[in-house]
Amino acid sequence: MLIYGKEVAATTLEKITSMTKDFEGKYKRKPTLAVIIVGDDPASQTYVRNKINGCKQVGFNSLSYEYPNGTAQDEIIQRIKSLADDDTVDGILVQLPLPKGYDEEKILANIPDSKDVDGFNASNIGYLCLGRPHTVSCTPLGVMHMLESTGVQLSGKNAVVLGRSNTVGKPMAMLLLNANCTVTVCHSKTQNLAEFTKKADILVVAIGRPKFVTADMVKDGAIVIDVGINRVDGKLCGDVDFDSVAPKTSYISPVPGGVGPMTISMLLYNTLMSAIARENER
Ligand code: NAP
Repeated sequence: MLIYGKEVAATTLEKITSMTKDFEGKYKRKPTLAVIIVGDDPASQTYVRNKINGCKQVGFNSLSYEYPNGTAQDEIIQRIKSLADDDTVDGILVQLPLPKGYDEEKILANIPDSKDVDGFNASNIGYLCLGRPHTVSCTPLGVMHMLESTGVQLSGKNAVVLGRSNTVGKPMAMLLLNANCTVTVCHSKTQNLAEFTKKADILVVAIGRPKFVTADMVKDGAIVIDVGINRVDGKLCGDVDFDSVAPKTSYISPVPGGVGPMTISMLLYNTLMSAIARENER
């Protein structure tokens, strides 16, 4: 069976829209997301456009700051600091990856926890590791919603995460651990990779290698979530060889239409939660 993130996301977006109306009625303002983009990478520009459109769709305000590649790092940090001090801003997002030469960690460290709607800063990652998540990275959070949409009990399952990036693989592994899965994380130095992936009841793949996971690497009846977004000959594909793998699985997410739409809906969810938390703290 297919897990269409698009459908799961649509339900989430409806809820966010309705909660946003309530928020506006109660607090006489809209939740506000500020997005910063540096450089002219076409994929990043598309992601930012989609995020701004998402804000419009659910009734948020959005602010967009575009800087040419080569802008001084301090100028970007000053912008983040002024957005951090701006009481009308609930979420600050810096579109990653930044062009070469920028220190992402140093830049992101200026986003206060309460406005870190991407959940990338050390404190939000730390709370996730402690099993007390505050704001969780959007893509892994979206994957958890997709897994939950299957109705399959996650507790006790063998989960294998392929990829260990700070933005996807690591927080994904923590979320699955917090859901009582037995979690294995594989990466480019893993030996005999298929031995691990073949044991997975739940296999989440985030490596950025087109159609890398083939049928012989997957257990019969596994749930496979493909986070990868690759462009081959102008067409989008995931990290999983969908055609060969799908018949072996109980559930599989397609690319496109799988994890991608979930990521934006989770970003909007995190922004709304941040807005509500900030109002409650006043
Ligand atoms: P990343 O930072 O490049 O990390 C890739 C990870 O995959 C690394 O941990 C790397 O291992 C591992 N890896 C690479 N080649 C491998 C191989 N042959 N065998 C085993 N492991 C391998 O990438 P990312 O940001 O996590 O993104 C991964 C993919 O997800 C990309 O296609 C990206 O476009 C996509 N993505 C999609 C969404 C969405 O919304 N759908 C969001 C974010 C990312 P090492 O650590 O050893 O180098």
